[in-house]
Amino acid sequence: MVTVDKAKVLERLAAVPGPDGGDIVSLGLVSDVFIADGRVAFSITVPETRARELEPLRRAAEAAVLAIPGVERAMVALTAERHHGPGRVARPRPPAAPLASAESAAAAAPSPAAAPARPAAQQGVPGVGLLIAVASGKGGVGKSTTAVNLALALKERGLKVGVLDADVYGPSVPRLLGLTGRPQTVDGRRLMPLEAYGLKAMSIGLLIEEDTPMIWRGPMVVSALRQMLMDVAWGELDVIVIDMPPGTGDVQLSLAQQAPLAGAVIVSTPQDLALLDARKGLAMFRKVEVPVLGIVENMSTFICPHCGEASHIFGHGGARHEAERLGVPFLGEIPLAMTIRETSDAGAPVMASAPDGPHAAAYRAVAGALWQEVQARRNSHRRPPQIVIE
Ligand code: ADP
Repeated sequence: MVTVDKAKVLERLAAVPGPDGGDIVSLGLVSDVFIADGRVAFSITVPETRARELEPLRRAAEAAVLAIPGVERAMVALTAERHHGPGRVARPRPPAAPLASAESAAAAAPSPAAAPARPAAQQGVPGVGLLIAVASGKGGVGKSTTAVNLALALKERGLKVGVLDADVYGPSVPRLLGLTGRPQTVDGRRLMPLEAYGLKAMSIGLLIEEDTPMIWRGPMVVSALRQMLMDVAWGELDVIVIDMPPGTGDVQLSLAQQAPLAGAVIVSTPQDLALLDARKGLAMFRKVEVPVLGIVENMSTFICPHCGEASHIFGHGGARHEAERLGVPFLGEIPLAMTIRETSDAGAPVMASAPDGPHAAAYRAVAGALWQEVQARRNSHRRPPQIVIE
């Protein structure tokens, strides 16, 4: 097997011209380079206003690396130049996420705290209306299950919906939607999303091999996210629901910063611990100026499958209370129910397989509250200044 080394990659990249002359390596635009089993990932820093125009530069760098014997895949992302406008104070880099070394986290992921909160010219995804992130402070709270069922509930409202699974540590959208197989390429470059239950879907799980070591995953997903948004033939969609990786480390922060998100939904279980984590999630989105559209309490009440009676085994209402306290909309509660788990495991989410049942109704209500919040925010942006005469 041919081993690829960093020096070779840099040597080839030194032949790629910079935006205005010179080459991208000597101009210091190339991030640290990650190499794992024939996969190479890095980012190139460009001025934030020129990202679209410099797409050919990204492709040239990708092609240069792919031409190296032994390189099977290259993940190249353009990241926005650090920019400190008037009044902005450069902040120190936060500690690296525990899952990756400081060096690796800094690679494809630009330093989140030092970069602008929201790049002014963040590119939208052509043909796609809104990107909504579904996040959680920690794993196992039902974030993916909620994301998929909410996507289906939004579709039921007549919207065209896609799901993007960016949960690199436990990509579960393929399982939840019963998807198998690899996405096909169209026009030699873009990937066709898969389709299930009327949703378009793409998962990082379909692109990163299962044995990819955890340490590579964070930086890889940050560079891959842009490609999954931009280089997938999504077609015309009203909304893409993004299933984020759980937690609030550097990787999550970079993801939140890279995608032009309309807002985020935070999923939490009623336990206090999870709520503490949810609060961290909230703080993270605020830091990158992504509006939090609301909190969902998952596994809220337990509905007995035999008698139908509801009991609050985890102590219930915590998320509603917390949302009120934090001044964030409370979007609703999803009960803890065997049906939800079983349908998810079977690749037939409850919203699609039992749309008339009480669980689908719960997701429908949350999706309704979410959509209302989205509309309210849109209207508040559009509303002309009002003159009030008293
Ligand atoms: P996360 O994305 O937060 O890691 P998942 O969506 O994968 O969580 O859910 C974790 C487990 O909990 C899965 O087995 C899923 O079927 C189950 N689950 C999620 N929500 C519920 C619910 N409301 N009732 C019962 N089981 C649930």
